[in-house]
Amino acid sequence: MTDIKPVSPFPRILLGPGPSNMPPEVVAALGAPIMGHMDPAFTAIMDNVRLMLGQVFQTRNALTIQLPGGGMAGMQAAFTNLIEPGDTVIIGMAGYFSGRMLSIAERLGARVIKVEAEWGTVIPPEAIEHVLRREKVKAIAIVHGETSTGVEQPVAEISKLAHRYGAYLIVDAVASLGGVNVPVDAWDIDICYGGSQKCLSAPPGVAPITINERALQAIRQRKTAVPSFYLDLTLLEKYWLGNPRAYHHTAPVPLVYGLHEALRLVLEEGLEARVARHRRLSQALVAGLEAMGLELFADPNHRLPSLTTVRIPAGVDDARVRKALLNEMNIEIGGGLGPVAGKIWRIGLMGYSCSKVNVLLVLSALETLLKREGYRVPGGAVLAAAAVLDNSGNH
Ligand SMILES: *Cc1c(COP(=O)(O)O)cnc(C)c1O
Repeated sequence: MTDIKPVSPFPRILLGPGPSNMPPEVVAALGAPIMGHMDPAFTAIMDNVRLMLGQVFQTRNALTIQLPGGGMAGMQAAFTNLIEPGDTVIIGMAGYFSGRMLSIAERLGARVIKVEAEWGTVIPPEAIEHVLRREKVKAIAIVHGETSTGVEQPVAEISKLAHRYGAYLIVDAVASLGGVNVPVDAWDIDICYGGSQKCLSAPPGVAPITINERALQAIRQRKTAVPSFYLDLTLLEKYWLGNPRAYHHTAPVPLVYGLHEALRLVLEEGLEARVARHRRLSQALVAGLEAMGLELFADPNHRLPSLTTVRIPAGVDDARVRKALLNEMNIEIGGGLGPVAGKIWRIGLMGYSCSKVNVLLVLSALETLLKREGYRVPGGAVLAAAAVLDNSGNH
């Protein structure tokens, strides 16, 4: 006997830094019957996930798979496989998630050189080149879409530098994959990992990752074994690509179904159309926030379409507004992390959550709550956003 009630969460409108809402097709897939993780009917689904991930990452890399675990598993796997004790690693640091890269690299015994930029700005490629000229660097790591600042970092430029100086490039595309262009082969990224629950709108708990042949060679030639059995890409390769496949772990079967459906929907919409949708709707959101008299946080030339950061006006209580948004209006947005805690809000428009109705809804909710806080709202935010969308010729 138990008094504990069944799980029955209220369906929130998720406009934070992730997770995003899931489309009904993905929700339905999660309830499909479980199969054994070596059942040929299930491994056929894995093969399709691999093929679709290749299209979404825009890569021909054979090892393009999903790891058990969230985006952090992708980050952990990228460093744990490529980095050996004593390796020199450059980390481009301008936000919270690059701080986690630093922590992981240090735990692996790497010698880390930080190339820092102020939160809200991009890491200048020249600053990275400055280090590359005087140091032998094994790898450069960069967060493409920094969810703590709303900045899109210049991956293409940094990649050219990395390879000119013989360094590998690790890219975190957790907050961008499926909503912002991440052309892995065109940008020549050696290891790129994404997130399932952000712009792909799949359930959290699986991490897409792709590794090119050059990086795989480096991993195979390590002096010491990959220190994590669970995230060893050479073992995962035998599970995904082996003939026969070699058991490594029990795949999170329902999550793989969910990811499969989410990827299918991305390709049905078309990657280009999806990227354009994220760009258009974030522009509408920005227009609405500016019409409210609010100031945006990220460098206007490098704004990340999937996540918009806005400064909280003086005299407005961050926690009170976000609590009212959640409890009264059922909308989740993100607060600031680290040095910008209490100073900015983070509004995500990711995947299925990135819709016209959600843009208009969050703007009108914020207008109402800011007014309640005593902030003089000019009004017209919803109309300003709608005007951007009307001018774009479609919804
Ligand atoms: C969300 C996020 C992560 C971590 O993903 P989890 O699924 O929470 O483990 C890593 N990097 C970036 C840029 C993110 O936005």
